[in-house]
Amino acid sequence: MPNKDYYSILGVQKDASADDIKSAYRRLAKKYHPDINKTAEAAEKFKDINEAYEVLGDEKKRANYDQFGSADGPQFSGTSGAGFGDFFGGGGGFSDIFSDIFSAFGGGNQRTMEKGDDVFINLTLSFEEAVFGAEKTITFPKLEKCSDCKGTGAKDGKEFTVCPDCHGSGRMRYQQTTMFGTTIREAGCTKCNATGKIIKEKCQACNGKGTKRIQKTLNVKVPAGIDNGQTIRLRGEGNDPMREGVSGDLNVRITVLPHKLFVRKGLDIYLDLYLPFTKLLLGSKIEIPTLKGDYLLSIPELTPSGTVMRLKNRGVKNLNRESYGDMLVTLKAEPPKSMDKNLKKALEDLDNKIDPRAYTKYQNFLSKK
Ligand SMILES: [Zn+2]
Ligand SMILES: [Zn+2]
Repeated sequence: MPNKDYYSILGVQKDASADDIKSAYRRLAKKYHPDINKTAEAAEKFKDINEAYEVLGDEKKRANYDQFGSADGPQFSGTSGAGFGDFFGGGGGFSDIFSDIFSAFGGGNQRTMEKGDDVFINLTLSFEEAVFGAEKTITFPKLEKCSDCKGTGAKDGKEFTVCPDCHGSGRMRYQQTTMFGTTIREAGCTKCNATGKIIKEKCQACNGKGTKRIQKTLNVKVPAGIDNGQTIRLRGEGNDPMREGVSGDLNVRITVLPHKLFVRKGLDIYLDLYLPFTKLLLGSKIEIPTLKGDYLLSIPELTPSGTVMRLKNRGVKNLNRESYGDMLVTLKAEPPKSMDKNLKKALEDLDNKIDPRAYTKYQNFLSKK
């Protein structure tokens, strides 16, 4: 999704009110409407204006856009480091966009909100926090039910009149003409949003919306074993609904920072251990870090470079049960940074002593040359 500046497209300030945005949109949409202005440039402009209003005209999408530069919430692009290149697309629904266009044009084709929208936020964890679990405090924008009007949008929660269209039933019959003919369908009354009531006097605190935009702070328990790209879903912590109904969910998407030594793949931990080649030939003991503390690794004599040693149950804990992945240590011979005369002499002496017949694979190679 390209990062367009929706505010400058609509020619409004970043702190513009919802009404300012709406009137800017109306003015521009009229000016560049394809029925009025038939140039290709106007068509492009009209598209941009609608795209901008789809986002800025919707409190939730606008909040996401302000915070993340996208209407769909955080967009994850890969961070550096092996294994961290996953991409997660946003979860924006096209049906939402269409109904928004409808309400913007038709004036009053609003949906009855039964469930508040889900909120998406991003949480970055250190490698250790993801592996061992953590308790994190997060702050995020959401729509909360207005306490002044108890979410009704009417002053003191009681300044209503009966809807003149549906006479309080909340249901209406609509005639719809399509290419297949005319149909009658019964649906929620659009004038009163199927509540049967019309607000006589708006609640001042929320300007009749029933919800307010707030910054909410929560403690989140991050379970041990969570991985990059996974989501913690907190039921009912998302946006409160516009009228009656249940709240949406909060989706906390996890980004895990890379470790300076370890690479995680699923529940297994990988470590490349570079050693002087003599340690592999002569065998040695070396203390290495693991998730369960230091571990004395015994390297047997005559270990080939590239050997992988598996340390059982020293990987990451399974999210759902008490079991662990493994740690895989790859042993790699590293040449010295430089050689002085003495070392070179010693190595040349060693090289002269080496009998190719003692090396099976090397000998095979020589015979096939
Ligand atoms: Zn209110
Ligand atoms: Zn009605």
